[in-house]
Amino acid sequence: MLRGLLWLVVVIFAMRCTSNNSTKQQTDKVRPDYVLVIHGGAGTLSRQKMSAEQEARYRAALDSALQVGEAILASGGTALDAVTETVAWLEDCPLFNAGRGAVFTHEGRNELDASIMDGRDQRAGAVGGVTIVKNPIRLARTVMEKSPHVFLVGPGAERFALENGLDTVSPSWFFTQERWEALQRVLKNGGEMGRVSSDQADYLFSTVGAVALDRQGNLAAATSTGGMTNKRWNRLGDSPVIGAGTYASNDGCAVSCTGHGEYFIRYAVAHDVWARMVYGGASLQEAAREVVMKKLVEKGGEGGLIAVDKSGTIAMSFNSEGMYRGYARPGERKVAIFADE
Ligand code: ASP
Repeated sequence: MLRGLLWLVVVIFAMRCTSNNSTKQQTDKVRPDYVLVIHGGAGTLSRQKMSAEQEARYRAALDSALQVGEAILASGGTALDAVTETVAWLEDCPLFNAGRGAVFTHEGRNELDASIMDGRDQRAGAVGGVTIVKNPIRLARTVMEKSPHVFLVGPGAERFALENGLDTVSPSWFFTQERWEALQRVLKNGGEMGRVSSDQADYLFSTVGAVALDRQGNLAAATSTGGMTNKRWNRLGDSPVIGAGTYASNDGCAVSCTGHGEYFIRYAVAHDVWARMVYGGASLQEAAREVVMKKLVEKGGEGGLIAVDKSGTIAMSFNSEGMYRGYARPGERKVAIFADE
């Protein structure tokens, strides 16, 4: 009798320990207050090909961009505002291939593409081939909020920008000597789109993007680019294509891509990551890895992506040498470039 009672006490004690453990595991997984993840493009980025000054400049720029979005999220702002302002900051920074500092087309022009998506209701806005709008990401957001459409291109998109009072500039605002010289090198080397050269610190892709989770649990994604050097015939890449370069839905994740856009369009990369999670039951990191390291590698599509899911988990996957990237969450801000960090 007494032995039986003793056993009961032991069993109850053991059960309480187990249930305490599982509660502990759950609290460990509590969603962070906010998360912001950014990229500044993926490509041939290795320590040998980059000077210390260049590296420091990029790290400082990524850190400043994170601070812009983090200030919004930390004060209770929306994921949508955080990704808009972070990407607008990166567009104004001439180091990246978006806004000022965009790459040149075959004809020596800067044609800019951008898109944005709100995970709350999957509203989206996108623009392609604009040449006078200072911040294409703001135009994409205005398309989402003030037009009945999702995707506007070329002169029509510019008319819409003027009608809605967006900041416009002369096309020469986007000019940088470095990108101009990159076009000249491509033209001299036979003109393959995007490939600048294999033996220097050039990289193929340097589109910018941001994804965020806010305090209310909402997700958003934004991407902006000049496309690929030497592109022709009003080519559009994946960056302004919802489901290819950008996707966000509160029931899964928010994704922004960078890489050889034709592949990202054909394999609906951003949407594929979301679908593997929501339909396939994969974790965010599994989904991102499968798409970037398996599918795209098999198909020959170079690049990478950043993503955040509704529980605040982050993925930053790339199959190229490196990717400009970073993230911020309460108490932690980190930037990285190379594969081994
Ligand atoms: N994905 C962009 C495009 O194909 C290029 C980039 O990521 O830099 O237009």
